[in-house]
Amino acid sequence: MSHVTHLESAIDGTHLPHDQLQTLHEGRPLWVRYDLGAVKAAMTKEAVASRKPTMWRYKELLPVEDETKVATLGEGMSPLLECERLGAALGLNDLWVKDESQLPTGSFKSRGLAMAISRANELGVERVAIPTAGNAGGAMAAYAARVGMEAFVFMPADTPIVNQHEAAYYGARAFLVDGLITDCGAVVREGTPEMGWFDVSTLKEPYRIEGKKTMGLELAEQFDWSLPDVIMYPTGGGTGLIGMWKAFAELAEMGWLADERRPRMVSCQADGCAPISTAWEAGERFADPFPDPVTAASGLRVPAAVGDFMIIDAVNESGGQARSCSEESLLSWAQRGAALEGIAFAPEAGACLGVLEKLVAEKAIDPDERVVVFNTGAAQKYVEAIGTNPLPRLPNPVDWDTLKS
Ligand SMILES: *Cc1c(COP(=O)(O)O)cnc(C)c1O
Repeated sequence: MSHVTHLESAIDGTHLPHDQLQTLHEGRPLWVRYDLGAVKAAMTKEAVASRKPTMWRYKELLPVEDETKVATLGEGMSPLLECERLGAALGLNDLWVKDESQLPTGSFKSRGLAMAISRANELGVERVAIPTAGNAGGAMAAYAARVGMEAFVFMPADTPIVNQHEAAYYGARAFLVDGLITDCGAVVREGTPEMGWFDVSTLKEPYRIEGKKTMGLELAEQFDWSLPDVIMYPTGGGTGLIGMWKAFAELAEMGWLADERRPRMVSCQADGCAPISTAWEAGERFADPFPDPVTAASGLRVPAAVGDFMIIDAVNESGGQARSCSEESLLSWAQRGAALEGIAFAPEAGACLGVLEKLVAEKAIDPDERVVVFNTGAAQKYVEAIGTNPLPRLPNPVDWDTLKS
């Protein structure tokens, strides 16, 4: 049994029951609410520390009722890596990377989809559909396969080639759509009555946030329940940023955090698709759809986010910022980070590094502050981006004269 009490509309606070399938309320997402007193009584730090190193170690603070229905591929805990060389390049003395590239299907999407598919499985869903900018489709296909669910994936025709193949490889019925992820979302909505599938779009069901929340729980545990000063998060739909901010609030309410420190949450986007930073910079709570979104950081190519106000609220409550950087900056920082640290930085994480460079230059971050960058995906999934820009094709054959010079 979980300690979930109800679901709560993020836009107007309406309570909804959690023992049945739920989607949006008034077109906006739902929070999962727990009896945190009961969670605190049922869970100890020692018990958590003794469990397997997966995101399910926080099970009392997660929504699954029946553990036999869990869809798992061993997701989490991801390594938290200290990065001295990359830190020095950015002018920082205490830089860390939470490396999500090692999770199943090569991105942190596995956390959210493991949770969403587990809950859908518990509630009797047999067929799921998703619009995706790339990694979510592969993750959903894998977890659906894991519990024998039928999966349908819709992605823009220019989605990275590895994402196109992986969804089909995991047995999903995968389709390309001429247009953006929002157009793929329209296809899923249109097909729902006839196909009878459950829509697991970002934030359109309540549980992906709970899966992504585990990044915040892990980070707290890995830093001995004391949070860093700044978190740099590459924002598409914003689930991870929203989920981590929720995790910190829940841990604080349970009295599990060692001190009062809460990180400043920095939402990072690419200049080519920056709806959240544009809205934040204008002092808005809701974002306008971003016209003609273009970026190799495909996970950030989300021109309209249904949880825009939840992202901006978290950023503002934390004293953080929502910013973007150029395409050149994110691609070159991702590659530089990979070469300096051996971490498979995805272009999305490159956006965090590009924004970090700006914030250090603006003195918005002190060199001694503890900063954590989320590397949300594996560089290997972006063969087009890493093969062309900024790296040239590899020389063949070996030219010894050039090599030795
Ligand atoms: C989806 C995705 C993002 C954006 O995540 P949200 O939580 O939806 O904002 C960032 N990076 C990668 C690699 C992604 O696949």
